[in-house]
Amino acid sequence: MTAVPGLQELLDNNRRWAKKVEAARPGFFTGLVRQQAPKYFWIGCADSRVPANDLVDLAPGELFVHRNVANVVVHSDLNCLSVMQFATDVLQVAHIIVVGHSRCGGVIAALEDRRVGLADNWIRHVQDVRNRHASWLETVASERRADALCELNVVEQALNVCQTTVVQDAWERGQELAVHGWVYGLQDGLLQDLHMTVSRLDDAGVAYESALAAVRARYSATG
Ligand SMILES: [Zn+2]
Repeated sequence: MTAVPGLQELLDNNRRWAKKVEAARPGFFTGLVRQQAPKYFWIGCADSRVPANDLVDLAPGELFVHRNVANVVVHSDLNCLSVMQFATDVLQVAHIIVVGHSRCGGVIAALEDRRVGLADNWIRHVQDVRNRHASWLETVASERRADALCELNVVEQALNVCQTTVVQDAWERGQELAVHGWVYGLQDGLLQDLHMTVSRLDDAGVAYESALAAVRARYSATG
């Protein structure tokens, strides 16, 4: 095999990893070739510090994943919607989890109107969230504002998931499917449930309002 400068280490790591997995669970890979049956669909940030499978300690085949800058769910994003449709209709996942994280670069750029390039147009969706909650955000201590916006963004994007035709059609046909919003703390490695949990369309409004109220309570001036 020709050595790839700078990348050989990754290929060596891969060989060791595959050997270790196969030794621990003989037939693991051949089993995965036949089928995947994940119960969870993770929509997270592309940030390298937030590796989906690692954070929840799930093996290949157990978590279906879509990641983009600042874990945004846009109604016209065919990439995210296609992954969601496959997860929902074909794999029949039981849970869709939107996962944001503290100190998110995309969220900070949105909050501070920081220009980063083409991604500004993408981050614009997070600025819509910022603008929707602008008067409350101004009451939050400046050093906590980015993390507050991160949580608001998760709640809003989870609501967006509920409003997709993919999820609404699944609920319409009686499929068991719940949408959730979580946030990951880079500083402690812990995931928190924001209780934006919706398993039927009628519950979306109430869950949204109570999740927002909880975010506001956590970040209130005295908190
Ligand atoms: Zn991020």
